[in-house]
Amino acid sequence: MKRPFVTLEQLREMTVQYPTPFHLYDEKGIRENARKLKEAFAWNPGFKEYFAVKATPNPAILKILREEGCGADCSSLTELMMSDRCGFTGPEIMFSSNDTPAEDFKLAAKLGATINLDDFTHIDFLKETIGFIPETISCRFNPGGVFTIGESTEGFQVMDNPGDSKYGFTREQIFEGFKKLKAMGAKRFGIHAFLASNTLSNDYYPTLAGILFRLAVELERETGCDICFINLSGGVGVPYKPDQPANDIAAIGEGVRRQFEEILAPAGMGDVAIYTELGRFMLAPNGCLVTKVLHFKHTYKEYVGVDACAANLMRPAMYGAYHHITVMGKEDAPCDHKYDVTGGLCENNDKFAIDRMLPEVEQGDLLVIHDTGAHGFSMGYNYNGKLRSAEVLLQEDGSTRLIRRAETPEDYFATMIFD
Ligand SMILES: *Cc1c(COP(=O)(O)O)cnc(C)c1O
Repeated sequence: MKRPFVTLEQLREMTVQYPTPFHLYDEKGIRENARKLKEAFAWNPGFKEYFAVKATPNPAILKILREEGCGADCSSLTELMMSDRCGFTGPEIMFSSNDTPAEDFKLAAKLGATINLDDFTHIDFLKETIGFIPETISCRFNPGGVFTIGESTEGFQVMDNPGDSKYGFTREQIFEGFKKLKAMGAKRFGIHAFLASNTLSNDYYPTLAGILFRLAVELERETGCDICFINLSGGVGVPYKPDQPANDIAAIGEGVRRQFEEILAPAGMGDVAIYTELGRFMLAPNGCLVTKVLHFKHTYKEYVGVDACAANLMRPAMYGAYHHITVMGKEDAPCDHKYDVTGGLCENNDKFAIDRMLPEVEQGDLLVIHDTGAHGFSMGYNYNGKLRSAEVLLQEDGSTRLIRRAETPEDYFATMIFD
């Protein structure tokens, strides 16, 4: 059973100050989770998590994670700017982008970020753009073919099978790429791969690590490049459904350690650092969307209309993703009513839940939509002129802090040209 990290009483107090809908984050949960991850990889002295900024691009969240020892994984110009403004410097920033514009590479280089190249042709493009090849450089690997592991929801929309996905160097290209980069002055090398999204399996990272560790040994032997880090990227998932088992990050860290000791250590590569770029695992369960019931509609189905919509949380509309819903104050009431929970967009897929069994819902009830802390607010948009909501932080002492104000109509009109 899924329990919200917040009580009805706390929410009632919050809604006096912050009108619904808003995204709420749990500082305590975020810190505890970050510490568990660090603990799981403590066997690797160089370990670092680079939080995927795109999952939750909020300065307060980034600063909390930085305090917990995390770096920032950026994929665009504004994410680089944000990380810089939040105090991340040089090698605390990973730049894992694809189809990269020149200005993004320029800023990444200026900030001293570690650049992770998505394609062989980007080697020359980077050289032309910034005038040199950085001494530390990383390449994204795509093994091709089919990759399956455990359960991976939404996996195909986000990642596809490696053979059909747009990311990364082929095996041949990465060997050529490393030789070329070395000849152009690179000294410290990294390998990155992201093969499946939202995996619910303690085997995803260990399996990926096995693939990358073997590749690293071959690459170092054949090219003579000094491989300093291996980046397992994102993809460790969270259980969105109440009956799904959660990943055990300690077991995952242990699984990667076993691969490390089997493959890298005997090859004399025991000093390689392990990096991760988790987004969802770090934040999803530590955020929720708080929304109020506005209307009921009884037609061919029973509809509950809330004041949030897909512009606040796109995942159900885009992926058919399940997000658990708690009717606050009725946590223990029987779920004996069937509803579609909808937002107000002129899109029939603007439904947070379809045929969901819930306790009887009343007008004015507060609903918590669970696990929206990653790829929630950040995927928001302004369709139908809907305004982006506020983001609120539930701090460790139980008090709340506004960490992003809600958009106003003035914000919405700011880029429009009326004359
Ligand atoms: C999206 C992304 C991540 C984070 O993925 P999660 O599924 O949220 O863990 C990490 N690295 C890169 C390059 C990404 O694009």
